[in-house]
Amino acid sequence: MRAWWCGFALGVVWLQRQAVLPDWVGLCGLVFAACVAVVVAVWGLGDGGSARAVERHAVAGGMAAAVGGYAATARAEAGTGATAELTAKATIALAAKATVAPTECAHALAVLASLIRRVRFGPRVRSFAGWSAVWCAASCMGFGYAALRADMRLALSLPTAWEGRDIEVVGSIKGLPSRDENGARFLFDVDPADAPMASFPRVIQLAWIAEDAPPPILEPGARWQLTVRLKRPHGNANFGVRDAEANLLARNVRATGYVSAPAHAVRLRGDARGVGVTVDRLRAALRARIDAVLGDAPHRGIVLALAIGAQDEVSAADWLLMRGTGTSHLVAISGLHIGFVAGLAGWLAGALWRRSGWIGRDWPLRLPAQVVAITGGALFAALHAALAGFNVPAQRALWMACVVALAFVSGRNVARSAVLAWALGLVLLIDPWAVVSAGFWLSFCAVAAILFAMSGRPRVQDHEQHHDPANEGGEPSSQLSGLCAGLLRRVRGAGERLRSAAHVQFAVTVALAPLTVYWFTQIPLIGPLANAFAIPWVSLLVTPAILAGVVLPAPLDVHAWHVAHALLEWLAAGLQRLSGPAWLLWRLPQPDTWALAAAALGVFWCLAPRGWPLRWAAPLTWLPLLMPAPSGPPHGSFRLTALDVGQGTSVLIETAHHTLLFDTGPGPESTHAGERVVVPFLQAHGVNALDTLIVSHADSDHSGGAPAVLDAIEVHQMVAALAPSNALWLNARQHGAATLPCAAGQRWQWDGVEFAMLWPDAGPLQGKPNTHCCVLRVSTSPPATSRPGARVQTEPPRMAALLTADIEAPVERILLARDRGALRAQVLVVPHHGSKTSSTEPFLDSIDPLIALFQVGYRNRFHHPNAGVFERYKARQIELGRSDTDGAVRVEVNPEAGAKGAARQNTTLTLDRYRDTQHRYWMDR
Ligand SMILES: [Zn+2]
Repeated sequence: MRAWWCGFALGVVWLQRQAVLPDWVGLCGLVFAACVAVVVAVWGLGDGGSARAVERHAVAGGMAAAVGGYAATARAEAGTGATAELTAKATIALAAKATVAPTECAHALAVLASLIRRVRFGPRVRSFAGWSAVWCAASCMGFGYAALRADMRLALSLPTAWEGRDIEVVGSIKGLPSRDENGARFLFDVDPADAPMASFPRVIQLAWIAEDAPPPILEPGARWQLTVRLKRPHGNANFGVRDAEANLLARNVRATGYVSAPAHAVRLRGDARGVGVTVDRLRAALRARIDAVLGDAPHRGIVLALAIGAQDEVSAADWLLMRGTGTSHLVAISGLHIGFVAGLAGWLAGALWRRSGWIGRDWPLRLPAQVVAITGGALFAALHAALAGFNVPAQRALWMACVVALAFVSGRNVARSAVLAWALGLVLLIDPWAVVSAGFWLSFCAVAAILFAMSGRPRVQDHEQHHDPANEGGEPSSQLSGLCAGLLRRVRGAGERLRSAAHVQFAVTVALAPLTVYWFTQIPLIGPLANAFAIPWVSLLVTPAILAGVVLPAPLDVHAWHVAHALLEWLAAGLQRLSGPAWLLWRLPQPDTWALAAAALGVFWCLAPRGWPLRWAAPLTWLPLLMPAPSGPPHGSFRLTALDVGQGTSVLIETAHHTLLFDTGPGPESTHAGERVVVPFLQAHGVNALDTLIVSHADSDHSGGAPAVLDAIEVHQMVAALAPSNALWLNARQHGAATLPCAAGQRWQWDGVEFAMLWPDAGPLQGKPNTHCCVLRVSTSPPATSRPGARVQTEPPRMAALLTADIEAPVERILLARDRGALRAQVLVVPHHGSKTSSTEPFLDSIDPLIALFQVGYRNRFHHPNAGVFERYKARQIELGRSDTDGAVRVEVNPEAGAKGAARQNTTLTLDRYRDTQHRYWMDR
């Protein structure tokens, strides 16, 4: 079953990376491939006399091929073993013919089977082919299962025409609503009977914004009639930043929006029912209790996260501290905590059962205490996982506990790796989208690494206890030496356990390092040391204190919560001491698939049992991960990435060795794009220092994210058009950046690329912010000297990009009057998000762009870009990129590439749209 579930998981992961879901043709091909794989598996893994079975399965496979008739798909599935390939290819060839006549196919496969019977293969070859086929069949199953589930989930969606209009919905509050000063956010379970249409989304995510009055108390399961405005699931789409739409799909949220008429909301009588609602109510009651006891205590969020799995309450300071020390996994109710709770509960249940004689009962004679202990542990694990909101690590631990309990009760001996494989299969059967979350990978890989690393090591046991000669003699003189020997044995045992624990810690650290780089683009070097004391501290002290708070009745639980909080204060103080210098946090760019695969191979190699050849060489495979090749464009060219920050502007310009960020997107006042998009993008991209940060003007959709950027990224220089009183100046200086006001005439050159500021004029800023935006022109330099003998046609053309921020028609006219030629640019970041007050005809004529980029929010309230302006660009046959429909857009400007390939002039400018190149099946659905 291990190979089966691992293959199944591979199929599920493979599906989640598809741009489109397979149609019925693809599914038929999948069925055929699975049939072929099953035939090969039966042949390869069956006993010697199973040739007849092969024959039967071969015929069955042929029939499936006759139905599907799509042999080509199967070729990819033909397995890795030479024999499997041989067999599969033969089957495919014959099956392809058989689509003409199924009976012929059956006959041909019978011939094939008899051929297989005659040809003798070595047992190793057969076994290899068989196992490869099992993987293939399971992958096909996983892929097909995940595809079917995705198809069913995507069938419910909000029609585009219904976006942004008032809709009346009836349903109940789902899960735990979260509240802050801006209002409440919650999931709403729409009643199918009262849904406005048959395919209306069942689960929607709503915000109840506190405008005139704060939102009412929203209790889990409470039924409401609400007037809402919705939009289809949409998230900002950026290279290297987590896909918000995948997250929405994984949570089955098929529309998001807000309560548009709070005054007309009606609380309906009667509540929703079910186990889920009861658990959520329990969680809500616990949260209210903890809030009442701890009030504004600094680590209240961690107590809440550990008690009920509500991580959104953890403070930003706590997150920062834990991320920096690699201990953020402890905030989740992880498998570790659940395993600990299950063990404790099981031990207690068993102990009580054994002592039933005290109350005059003989329960252990009727049911062994071990069975009670293990069942009690599994039940308690289920309760705790429910309290945690069934996150993936909690599910993993729960299923592992259940499989162990079931195996024990049924008297079977199941290998630990098989227990993990079953947990993997069950998690993915319930939720095939679990693979898009970091928790899934970290949780399963950590346990797999521990099992793998410990597989070659003997378990810690007191072997000597039974063979110690000191115990055999009964003379008094030997009693002292016996005592000494006993003490020595204990010390040795403790040493062995410590070594074992250190080995586990090493295995987890090594195994999770590549995943940490992939998901969080950093390695906290202090992590192993911090975890060495933080894990036992949280597991053995904090968690039991919190559980005591959960279990104890009202007046007594106060002490437990206070103890838990005090323990967390000590932990935070300890971690604070450890997290000191910045170099302890090693920032790395997000690795590509190959670097990740090489690192995974290295982990496997490094943790392999003793005796594995060349284990010392394993770290060499981590080099692509730890020392990535420089990703800058070639000298004399530049790369422009217009980020998708919603309604706002943020553009990164890279030359061979320098980076410039033009605007930072909106900040905490709206979408938090600075910290949620711009900073993660820069870090995933390996930009840990910006040579220049330009803040074009004070409007929050351009400058709001700047504090987040200054906090997280080293900025050498900030150039901005801001009033002297603006707090950003001081903020930048406090972060060590040189500051300079934007002024026309500023020029500099980096790596053969020229930067020139065209606007505003030097001196005090005049008028409203849009009239004094920084306007930047970036251009490749003309060749310094003409090369002797070089033909004129091969000279690279001069290419430029113009970044215009939010300028409007009057500024456009001034720039035109000043120097029309200086505006010429092949790439234009459209002024003022395509508003009707900008992009005048003469301005566009002078720039004459080949590519124009609109940075606009999805269904933004300003209705940018203006339809007339957008048409103006289209009429000029300009290649257009829009952040709301294309996500981030990257333009490589490389004049050399165009000059080298005279026939391929278009290579000078290459356009890369995120939603094209990284398309996934859930986008636009
Ligand atoms: Zn703007």
